[in-house]
Amino acid sequence: MNLLEFPEATNLVFPSPIQLLNSPLLDAKKIKLYVKREDLIHPIIGGNKWRKLKYNIIELQRSKAKTILSFGGAYSNHIYALAGVGQLFGLNTIGIIRGESCEPLNPTLAYAKKVGMQLHYVSRKDYRLKETSKFIESLKSQFGEFTLIPEGGSNELALPGCAEIIEELDAQLSGQYDTVCLPCGTAGTLAGLISSGTKKNLLGIAVLKGAKFLHENINHLLSESEFVDKNKSWKINLNYHFDGYAKKTPELMRFISNFNQEFNINIERIYSGKMFYGLFDLIKNDFFEQGTTIVALHTGGMQNEDI
Ligand SMILES: *Cc1c(COP(=O)(O)O)cnc(C)c1O
Repeated sequence: MNLLEFPEATNLVFPSPIQLLNSPLLDAKKIKLYVKREDLIHPIIGGNKWRKLKYNIIELQRSKAKTILSFGGAYSNHIYALAGVGQLFGLNTIGIIRGESCEPLNPTLAYAKKVGMQLHYVSRKDYRLKETSKFIESLKSQFGEFTLIPEGGSNELALPGCAEIIEELDAQLSGQYDTVCLPCGTAGTLAGLISSGTKKNLLGIAVLKGAKFLHENINHLLSESEFVDKNKSWKINLNYHFDGYAKKTPELMRFISNFNQEFNINIERIYSGKMFYGLFDLIKNDFFEQGTTIVALHTGGMQNEDI
């Protein structure tokens, strides 16, 4: 399938729907909260991983390249989405997976393998060297020519796809919103929103410990002018990582289950759970002025819901 005929050629849902949440807390604080359901774009390649891959695929199709190689952990949403994209668009995919192979494969890797991704495991030590030219050369001698997409899919071609989230929102809400809130892993998605040139406030909630590398990633992805001109309107809150990536507490899990019940929207604990926890905590603590309209991005990741 040729993505240049997109979107008619695919069954991807665009624009992703938005949904208004109602709750006593939001009423009391006079906050209007929408959720942009990126998770509903597609059951497998939904969420921000599709947004990041879209222009990578278009570029690949233009250049007639056939093979993509990328990296991820054993539960990676990016690896899962990439495998799905490979099947949908007839591309070869190679997944370099951190750690030992473990049989039976978990559902993420079992799916990736089933739809044709070639899985290759490397030790944690080698995985840390994955961006060095020596390591990449060794992959080339093993697998032949490929187009490399970094871990999490966060490269420059990821930016325009993520910027389209802002275009859609501007149209869907006629520009009537103040803040976009989203979870940050590598902050590639946030960099894409910044690259749209939007004047809205952008609020990332970090799901990992440590601030510095997020700003470095954003700095690295955006051109200097974008970084300098637009950095006034975005922030990353570092208070809701729950002690690190994929860490959880009973409090977080309780919040997620209450959220599912109250709003009938499934969220997961690694990204959207922490983002909504942080967002509701900030609302409770009057971080936002009365009358603020917020859009939270549900970035997907539901394939991992049961881990
Ligand atoms: C990868 C991922 C993120 C993080 O996106 P970044 O661009 O790396 O910040 C957020 N939510 C979900 C569901 C993801 O899979």
